[in-house]
Amino acid sequence: AKSNGGNSFQYFTPSMQQNAVSRMSLISDLRIAIAANQFQLHYQPIVNLITGDIYKAEALIRWQHPVRGLVGPIEFIPIAEETQLIVDIGDWVFREAAQQSARWRTAIEPSFQISINTSPVQYKNDAFSAKDWLDYLDALKLPGDAIMVEITEGALMEYGSSIDQKLFDFRDANIQVSLDDFGTGYSSLSSLKKLDIDYLKIDKSFVDNLAPHSNDLALCEAIIVMAHKLDLKVVAEGVENEEQRDLLIAAGCDYAQGYLFSKPLPAIEFEKLLKSR
Ligand code: C2E
Ligand code: CA
Ligand code: CA
Ligand code: CA
Repeated sequence: AKSNGGNSFQYFTPSMQQNAVSRMSLISDLRIAIAANQFQLHYQPIVNLITGDIYKAEALIRWQHPVRGLVGPIEFIPIAEETQLIVDIGDWVFREAAQQSARWRTAIEPSFQISINTSPVQYKNDAFSAKDWLDYLDALKLPGDAIMVEITEGALMEYGSSIDQKLFDFRDANIQVSLDDFGTGYSSLSSLKKLDIDYLKIDKSFVDNLAPHSNDLALCEAIIVMAHKLDLKVVAEGVENEEQRDLLIAAGCDYAQGYLFSKPLPAIEFEKLLKSR
């Protein structure tokens, strides 16, 4: 790399070049991943803290890359967003989750619901059609509440009205809407006021250090009271031990997710878990 031959070259180090190359190959691999059937959804139980039932699950995407092995969403969702590939990936996630929801509604519980993560970039893209999703549910003879869509509050801040109409169409069709990572954005309270949502997910960072008399417990309690006054159900994320679970139950939390109950599992394993209970 040229060190002082002018600003335009100073970042062009061999490792940067390497990164650019691996980034390009990641993008070209991503382009074929759907057609090559390389994505999978894993399912994490969303446990009803009052009844102990597991009639909901969050779908989390993984990429079985032919060379890199199993790749987590953190590694490719940002690039999928930058390249707009997230629109096709998001459509795939929706269809896969809807089919799975239909199967589990038959095999496990008629009210079974699968929650999917959605990206603000999807909503903003004109190719993303709420109507196509609703037609797909119709074709499977599924009601809207077979699916829940999770969206982060950051997304609502950033894109505002382009998201609103599509979310409105979903809610009109009785698809549930969940505000993900609650408490981590800039606008937590104003997004609650603005949007007609059904569930609020307390971010894992508030759950991590839950202890009696802690500030985090006070915050969780306050979030739960507020959510209930707004007629929302609350899901706590990242519950890893019994103390956290018990404090959340005492605070009136409705649902919980986390390694205490189960890691995200392939569909077959998830089914085994439910049948073994
Ligand atoms: P998220 O929606 O906040 O999902 C929760 C993440 O925490 C998941 O990581 C999950 O495996 C992990 N997790 C669950 N319970 C525990 C726990 O008890 N302890 C710890 N340490 N972690 C736990 P994952 O699967 O790697 O997903 C990361 C993020 O990628 C998700 O965060 C979500 O933002 C995004 N993502 C995943 N699937 C999709 C998708 O299909 N579409 C989009 N747009 N984003 C997705
Ligand atoms: Ca989520
Ligand atoms: Ca989350
Ligand atoms: Ca998160």
